[in-house]
Amino acid sequence: MNARYYEKRDDQKIQCLLCPNECIIAPGKKGICGVRRNSGGTMEIPFYGRLSGLALDPVEKKPLYHYYPGKMILSAGFWGCSFRCPFCQNYHISQQTREESDYMSPEQLVDLAVKRNSFGIAYTYSEPLIHIEYLLDTAKKARQRGIKNVLVSNGYINPEPAEEFLEYLDAANIDLKSFNPDFYKKEIGGNLDEVKRFLTRAVRKIALEVTTLVIPTKNDSLAEIGEIARFLASLDPDIPYHLSCYYPTYHYTIPATSVSSISRLAEEAKKRLNYVYQGNVGLKETNTFCPSCGNLLIRRVGYTISMCGIKEGHCSKCSKKVPIPGVE
Ligand code: SF4
Repeated sequence: MNARYYEKRDDQKIQCLLCPNECIIAPGKKGICGVRRNSGGTMEIPFYGRLSGLALDPVEKKPLYHYYPGKMILSAGFWGCSFRCPFCQNYHISQQTREESDYMSPEQLVDLAVKRNSFGIAYTYSEPLIHIEYLLDTAKKARQRGIKNVLVSNGYINPEPAEEFLEYLDAANIDLKSFNPDFYKKEIGGNLDEVKRFLTRAVRKIALEVTTLVIPTKNDSLAEIGEIARFLASLDPDIPYHLSCYYPTYHYTIPATSVSSISRLAEEAKKRLNYVYQGNVGLKETNTFCPSCGNLLIRRVGYTISMCGIKEGHCSKCSKKVPIPGVE
């Protein structure tokens, strides 16, 4: 398996062009993500197929609410991340790497999805996009077998690899961590514009959902969530938007987000978006209602899902079109 998306330089250093960090890597060193390495002037990818986790999860756990609701999906986890979020809820796999973890070839992963009757494979848990070679190899094989490809990611990838992967991708939930460029730059080491660019590209090609982890005092103002909602609505007001409660972990000790704060922000987002959900709020119902007539379309209590008000892709009461893949 050959590494892609990098350039050799005259001084034995290499420049990775996979994500907007565009790391210049000296011989023997790794890029910011910790998984792409300069070995004698060539890019090495020692984490190809090295999974940090593997589980059959409800697709709602990703979270994806408008894609094969109620179905289980084989979920493969990875190591490393292109960001350095001090509040990372998965820091034990995103901010460290373990080369000796179990190897699974693309063929084996696709075979397992078929054997487990999973409708798809979710690339998730840590940051999958920094493993683009494995993702492409697996996604191509999955598509040949009728298995859907689902991404859960920070959306931090350069345009060329993004276009290539989107050809094989079916759905994604992308984090939009803030609408403040300074937050992206100073807190997590990223660039907001690049994430917005990926979302703009992705919405044209796949079933897209977006999540914001709401952190008190950092990104929880009505104005900021309103700005995010305005941006998403400019792409498509039907994009499902998840506002998720944060819990103190890793370097952050800020107290957890209150449920009342999430509810208030959800009301703000609903002024512009048709489908807004609250996540990490315990067993609270997270139902889908028809944006036209208010009819209950999908009832969710935890991971128990019932399709109440959708018939042949339309609201059973007012006939509004509700195109949710995987719903009869
Ligand atoms: S994928 Fe990793 S090595 Fe490549 S530019 Fe991004 S952080 Fe750097």
